[in-house]
Amino acid sequence: MGAEEPKILIIEDELEIRRFLRVSLSAHGYRLLEVGTGRDGIRDAATHQPDLVILDLGLPDVDGMDVIREIRQWSSVPIIVLSARGDESQKVAALDAGADDYLTKPFGMSELVARLRVAVRHAAGGEAGEPVFQVGDLVVDFARRRVRVADREAHLTPTEFRLLAMLVKYAGRVVTHRQLLKDVWGPDSVHETHYLRVYMAQLRQKLEQESTRPRYLLTEPGVGYRLAAE
Ligand code: CA
Repeated sequence: MGAEEPKILIIEDELEIRRFLRVSLSAHGYRLLEVGTGRDGIRDAATHQPDLVILDLGLPDVDGMDVIREIRQWSSVPIIVLSARGDESQKVAALDAGADDYLTKPFGMSELVARLRVAVRHAAGGEAGEPVFQVGDLVVDFARRRVRVADREAHLTPTEFRLLAMLVKYAGRVVTHRQLLKDVWGPDSVHETHYLRVYMAQLRQKLEQESTRPRYLLTEPGVGYRLAAE
């Protein structure tokens, strides 16, 4: 991270959540801008060029989804949306519209800070093209196409490796079922969610100590999967 700490634009009308974000993020050195409406958010995203946007989807003036679409017309700034539990289709729609990740309310400070760190790092291109990825005792060596867990080699099929590689590319961020199916199996397969169930089960068998309580290959119910990044 450079001399200047990342500047974060918060677009949220709930004062209590704003206060929580302000306290948590200032404590971590982030610089903050706060607005309570979508229109002000779009304006400030343009004029202040933040390093990251935290966007509540339920705003008083415009639909949060429209805020994402508007900002995406001219900016690739990472957008993390705040969404209520149970709104899985809304989360998927937000990700499809160009959001980078989401947090489900209520969320804790460590989860918030971890998501921000991942999003800012990805935006900076900090880990693009790393030949070896490691998290915990999972090591993915792209040059050799080899995967090791706790110093034991895991033998993956080409499809399993492609699926894992896609999750590594987005490590720490959610990847939707549609994105995974499109990238690994092709655009004709975006509705074949059973492929994912089968292959994720196989990957967990090979990579997780307890496949029913995964440490690396995390399920985001109704949305997709996330590879743990730390
Ligand atoms: Ca709200």
